Amino acid sequence: MYLWELWSKFTDFIEKDTQAENESKKTAVVIRILTLSFIAYLLLPAISWNVVSSSGGFVIYLIALLIFVGIFAATYKLRTLWIFTGLSVAMIFWIISFIYLFGWNVGVQHFLMVLLVLVFFAQYNNLKFKAFFATGLCILRIALYFIFCDSKSLVEISSRENNSLQIINTIVIFWSISVISYIYGRDSQELESKLIAYNEELKAMANTDKLTSLYNRRRAIEYIEECCKNCGNKGFCLCICDIDFFKKVNDTYGHDAGDKVLQAIGKVFREEMEDKNMAARWGGEEFLLLFPDTNGDAAFIRLCEIRRKIKNIVVMKAGQEIRVTMTFGLAEYDYSGNYESMLITADQKLYRGKEDGRDRIVY
Ligand code: GH3
Ligand code: MG
Ligand code: MG
Repeated sequence: MYLWELWSKFTDFIEKDTQAENESKKTAVVIRILTLSFIAYLLLPAISWNVVSSSGGFVIYLIALLIFVGIFAATYKLRTLWIFTGLSVAMIFWIISFIYLFGWNVGVQHFLMVLLVLVFFAQYNNLKFKAFFATGLCILRIALYFIFCDSKSLVEISSRENNSLQIINTIVIFWSISVISYIYGRDSQELESKLIAYNEELKAMANTDKLTSLYNRRRAIEYIEECCKNCGNKGFCLCICDIDFFKKVNDTYGHDAGDKVLQAIGKVFREEMEDKNMAARWGGEEFLLLFPDTNGDAAFIRLCEIRRKIKNIVVMKAGQEIRVTMTFGLAEYDYSGNYESMLITADQKLYRGKEDGRDRIVY
C-alpha cells in the first residue's frame, strides 16, 4: 500500500502540468521521463566502468548528469521550445563525448534517432523546423562517422564492456522511442476511438425514432430502396399500418398515455420483426413494416400474429385499461423498380380497411 502511494505520488509529479501558458504538458512529461532515464543510464555504467577513473571521462559524465538534472527541473517552468532545444544540445554533447570516450562501436550515435522522433512530435505545425532539424541530424550522423569510425577511443574498454554498452544503449534507445510514441499517441488513439463511438451513436440517432426506438422514416426509405435494388426475383412486401381511433385515446387518457401506447406497439414490432424484416415509425401513429424476400401470403401470416399481439397490449392509466387495435394495408412489390406506387397501394388498402370498419389486414 505504501509503495503504491509512493508510486502514485511519483507519477503525479511526472504528469504535473507545466507553468508555461497555452502549452500541452505532453512534451514536458516525455522530456521528464527521458531525462530521468538518461540520468539512470549515466549512473549505471559509471559505477562499473573504468571511465570514472579517467579524469576526462569523469568530467564529461558529471557535466552530462548535471545538464539532464537541470533540464528535468526546467520542464516545470520553461516553454517547450526551450526545453527541447536544451535537451537536443545536451544529447548531442553527450553523444559526441561518449563516442570520443568509448569509440564508435558502442552504438551511442543511435540516440540521434530519439531526437529525430521527438522533433516530429514535439514541434507542432512547424514543418520547416522539423525538416531543418532532421537534415541537421542526418548530416551530423554522417560527419560523426567519418570523424570517429577509425579513431582510437580515449578509454580502453574490453570487448565484454563494449558488448554491455551496446546492449544498454539499445535498451535505452528502444525505451526512449517507445515512451515518446506512447505518450504522444495515447491521447490521439483515445480521442479517435471516442470519435468513432460518437459517430456510431450519431448515426444510430439519425436513423432512430426516439419515442419508440424503431427506425425513422428516413431510414425506412433507405431500406425500401435497398430492397428494390437487391430483391432479385424473390420480391418483397411492405405494409403501412395505423392505430384505430388514436385521437380518442389521447383525448380520453391524455397525451402521455398515448405515448405509452406508441411505445408498447414499438416493442411488439421490435420483437416480431426480427431478422431481415424491419419496422419503422412512418409518422405520428402510423408505422411501416418491411418484409424482404417474402411474398404476400407469408407476410399476411406474420401480420395476423402481429395484429393479435397488438390487440393484447394493455396500457394502464389511473387504474383504467387502455387497449387499441390497428388497421394494416399490405402491398407486394410489382418489380417496377419504383417503390412509390407500392406505398400508394399500401396507403389505399389501409384507407379501405378504415372505411370497412378498422381492426383488419387488407391484402
Ligand atoms: P383512425 O382510426 O381513423 O386512424 O382515427 P385516429 O383518431 O387514429 O386518426 P387521427 O389521424 O384523427 O388521429 C391521429 C392522432 O394521433 C392525432 C395525434 O394527436 C396523435 N398523435 C400523433 N403523434 C403522436 C404522438 O407522438 N404521441 C401521441 N400521444 N399522440 C400522437
Ligand atoms: Mg393516422
Ligand atoms: Mg389512427
